[in-house]
Amino acid sequence: MGPLQCNCTILGDEEAGEAIVIDPGDEIVRIERRLNELRLELKQILITHGHIDHVGGALKLKRRTGAPILMNENDLPLVKMMGQQAAWLGVETPEVAAPDENLADGMTVGLEKIPAQVIHTPGHTQGSVCLHLAPMKLLIAGDTLFAGSIGRTDLPGGNGRQIIDSIQSRLMTMADETRVIPGHGMRTTIGEERRENPFLTGSW
Ligand SMILES: [Zn+2]
Repeated sequence: MGPLQCNCTILGDEEAGEAIVIDPGDEIVRIERRLNELRLELKQILITHGHIDHVGGALKLKRRTGAPILMNENDLPLVKMMGQQAAWLGVETPEVAAPDENLADGMTVGLEKIPAQVIHTPGHTQGSVCLHLAPMKLLIAGDTLFAGSIGRTDLPGGNGRQIIDSIQSRLMTMADETRVIPGHGMRTTIGEERRENPFLTGSW
């Protein structure tokens, strides 16, 4: 979605007719159209971190669907500086609001049949979280882990040592076959990143 091509994920339980949306950064009409096509009612809007390309469309989507927004409270300062974030990209400032609920470490969110565990992985930002959908062997990684790379740590709230520590201690403990949907770019797996990601193998 949007100019930075953030990966927005829709996960649905077709039997229950319910869905969650992760990181609706932009193009809300497109997300809504897809939910309607799939006949899914949106239950939660989950935000991996407070950067504009991930959270920019959340309030609009909330207004159109009534679903609550959940984001880690440590990224509230980033939400408050949305004007500055928009200026970095040279885009219009989206209307944003504080989340309805804090995505705290260890909490279970998502749908009854699609539970997602919140893993706080600070480093890209202080409020960055990953969502682990253990029954699906799926990790939604936000901008913490990418295929062959990791999130940048040079923006406000970023910390290079902390992101490596978060990945090593919280993500690399998962099974090799865990599929990873990063915040940008191609999908990968935990095993592939463990073997080949230069930021983790020490070859960088
Ligand atoms: Zn980001």
